[in-house]
Amino acid sequence: MSLPLYEFHCPDCGSFDAGFTMAAVPDATGCPQCAGSSRRRVGGGAFVRPGSAAARLIDATKRTASEPAVVGAPAGRSNAPVTRNPLHRKLPRP
Ligand SMILES: [Zn+2]
Repeated sequence: MSLPLYEFHCPDCGSFDAGFTMAAVPDATGCPQCAGSSRRRVGGGAFVRPGSAAARLIDATKRTASEPAVVGAPAGRSNAPVTRNPLHRKLPRP
């Protein structure tokens, strides 16, 4: 099992990812290149505000994956004619 990655930003070297447990993730950590203080970037996709549009989308996606919506009829052929053009009636039927 690997630690979740958090994005930090070093003012000198740029962004890098560092793994921490969720309980122990600091607000800043040492840059792996210059050991300078690098602040954690918040809102980099790891955290989604509850109730936001993004959170609802993620919830809906998860729900669809585990509990697909029940459909009443198979997709595709229905009783309603697709076309009303009489010439189309002469076409071979499957
Ligand atoms: Zn650095």
